[in-house]
Amino acid sequence: MNLDPQQISNLSMIGIALIAAFFAALWLGLLFWVIRDIRLRSRDPFLMILSALLVIILPMVGVIIYLIIRPGKTIEDRYQAALEEEALLQEIEKQPKCPGCGRSVDAKWILCPACHTRLNKLCISCGEVIEIPWNLCPYCGVPQQKVYKEQND
Ligand SMILES: [Zn+2]
Ligand SMILES: [Zn+2]
Repeated sequence: MNLDPQQISNLSMIGIALIAAFFAALWLGLLFWVIRDIRLRSRDPFLMILSALLVIILPMVGVIIYLIIRPGKTIEDRYQAALEEEALLQEIEKQPKCPGCGRSVDAKWILCPACHTRLNKLCISCGEVIEIPWNLCPYCGVPQQKVYKEQND
């Protein structure tokens, strides 16, 4: 196949145009990806504009810089972490403490094993562990007589 210089020139022009189009598409794609990614990670409009500018001004290098400086966690991740922390704190708060010595005690204990403070009492009818001020058993409904309290206090 013989090509005259004009045809070679035309072909190379098409080649350059195709390569340019490819990089432009890649650059646009990366720009959209970065904008979508930063929106998952931050609600700060300054950070969004900065990330987009970084990719626009420094086409390929900007994305690498963005990957290094972007916030490590997405908003969703941070929300989940906050929820877990909250649940953990609630778990700790739920753990009852002995009013006498402050040690963690089990909700089902009737005496503190460390200082022997009375924590709960047993229902006179069904034997379930109930709180000392209750005068009615929530498990079987039997009223707790004063006699029982006096005998055991
Ligand atoms: Zn105690
Ligand atoms: Zn009972």
